[in-house]
Amino acid sequence: MPEHVIIIGSGPAGWAAAIYAARANLHPLVLEGAETEENRVAGTLPLGQLNLTTEVENYPGFPAGLLHGYIRSAVDEKRVSTYLEPLHEHRHAVTGPELMNLMRQQATNFGTKVITDDVTEVDLSRQPFQLTTLEGNTHEAHTIIIATGARANYLGLPSEERFKNRGVSACAVCDGALPRFRNKPLVVVGGGDSAVEEATYLTKYASTVHMLMRRDVFRASKIMQERARTNPKIAIHNFREVEEVLGDEKGGVTGIRMKNNQQGGTEDIPASGLFLAIGHTPNTDFLKGQLALNDKGYIQYTTLMRTFTSVEGVYAAGDVADDYYRQAITSAGTGCMAALDAERYLAAKGL
Ligand code: NAP
Repeated sequence: MPEHVIIIGSGPAGWAAAIYAARANLHPLVLEGAETEENRVAGTLPLGQLNLTTEVENYPGFPAGLLHGYIRSAVDEKRVSTYLEPLHEHRHAVTGPELMNLMRQQATNFGTKVITDDVTEVDLSRQPFQLTTLEGNTHEAHTIIIATGARANYLGLPSEERFKNRGVSACAVCDGALPRFRNKPLVVVGGGDSAVEEATYLTKYASTVHMLMRRDVFRASKIMQERARTNPKIAIHNFREVEEVLGDEKGGVTGIRMKNNQQGGTEDIPASGLFLAIGHTPNTDFLKGQLALNDKGYIQYTTLMRTFTSVEGVYAAGDVADDYYRQAITSAGTGCMAALDAERYLAAKGL
């Protein structure tokens, strides 16, 4: 029997869709992704990008507090011990991994089925739709919600990998307010709107923000360029690339070795953080040729304020269709919308 709804992806969009679909008695199946080394390196393990961040201070409903008692009482004990740091009660905002495990638990409490596997292929040309997984299994569904998210682009340096979450980040809004960055010099790489936005945001906390651009030309809009140029706390460095992230095991990032790609030579600058703003890549490789994507590879919505895609019965939610807002709350919001869209489609078709 085909599933009523299969949700691909397990970030906030996927779990929000699952909670709504499960409560509508659609018995959703979530394919949450595979726990492979390849996914670890790419940043595409189950539970999505949020699971890679530290404290989440902007998700409504979780002001800082003594959350561990609650988390222990809400989340399956085995998952707490396997997927969460040892829980010692202290006042904090919910962390990404805690929030994602809470969402997953909420979805399974209402009967969501979960399979830990990647979808490698879809056939959307037939009804019911067919999905093939990394482990070689096939599943059929009347509706599909795609919530596979996007992954931040990194430079690919070994030293960058070593200090991820200890000073290296690709999300200023997620991590910028952490104590380690307060009143310290920080480095932002990139010259697009995101880089200017991140740099401007970070000036609230940092002593100085160094923007490293590999050319002497911004990709950012004029108004954003102006914002960067006129902010006294932002120092713009043209023709500069990161050669190495400097740091130590105890303190994490302590500086950046930057190279001048025009004249050669390197210079070390002190910094307690490195923020990458060099774009994101949507996780849509498995969809090529099946669904309309935009020129950057994101799923294209076809109707304003709906999660409809180019194939009827297939819906998109979260960052996989959004290169603009990219927040946990906006992803969860579109996840809810996609579940409601799927439910209405199934009802209209008498499925
Ligand atoms: P983007 O516009 O593609 O800019 C990427 C930047 O990263 C460019 O400056 C690029 O340099 C640089 N870069 C890429 N790979 C690099 C590498 N390996 N090493 C060093 N630098 C590298 O991406 P984005 O800033 O994330 O923006 C994405 C979209 O969202 C855009 O359409 C943007 O307008 C929109 N957005 C809008 C706002 C806003 O309006 N407030 C805010 C955020 C994003 P090169 O130019 O040399 O390639």
